[in-house]
Amino acid sequence: MHLIELYKSVQGESSFAGLPCIFVRLAGCNLRCAWCDSEYTFTGGKPFTLDEIEQQIKALAPCTLVEFTGGEPMLQAKELLPLMDRLLAQNFTLMIETSGERPLADVPKAVHKIVDVKCPGAGSAANTFRLENLEALTKNDEVKFVITNREDYDFARDFIRTHALDAKAGQILLSPAFVQIPSPQRTADNMALDPRKLVEWMLADGLPARLSLQIHKFIWEPMKKGV
Ligand code: SF4
Repeated sequence: MHLIELYKSVQGESSFAGLPCIFVRLAGCNLRCAWCDSEYTFTGGKPFTLDEIEQQIKALAPCTLVEFTGGEPMLQAKELLPLMDRLLAQNFTLMIETSGERPLADVPKAVHKIVDVKCPGAGSAANTFRLENLEALTKNDEVKFVITNREDYDFARDFIRTHALDAKAGQILLSPAFVQIPSPQRTADNMALDPRKLVEWMLADGLPARLSLQIHKFIWEPMKKGV
């Protein structure tokens, strides 16, 4: 597998936010979201065998929560899915952060899928979510929308309602985007959309969703890598 980095930190998003977590960041992405904060994953990465990655994960014990992220980790599904099976058999709790553009049906059901459905503000990546992946969702999974403006919010609200998403996934997350080049300050001023505005829209619509702030961008400087 081609790996960018593997490290232990706290989970910054989802219902696992705040928990110690091992991040396995894989190389390569087939999308180009306008607000991407992981462009350094698009090229490069070093090849490692599954044994080597498993050993690196175990070296970070006693942490047993592992997130596969990227880039788009499902581009390496051929090796990633067997690695997931190995780790699940050893009682690791696994998450995968994915755009849902690749098929997700073969991801083991015990893995918590965090599926980032792209809104119009994602630019060329908008509308790339593969609708048949809705059938692969379980209550273990969370669907995320990164929101840059009112158009994105309306898209997310309509998508949630049209597909009765709250009946399919365990959580629905609305996450305000950060500006492309944030200041080193650890404040909400770096967000492309004021979270207060997003909360007002969510409450006005009675949306069955959770506000999700990327807490690692408040704990550390927003551009800091490997945290
Ligand atoms: S899918 Fe993720 S890594 Fe790929 S461009 Fe979008 S935000 Fe960046």
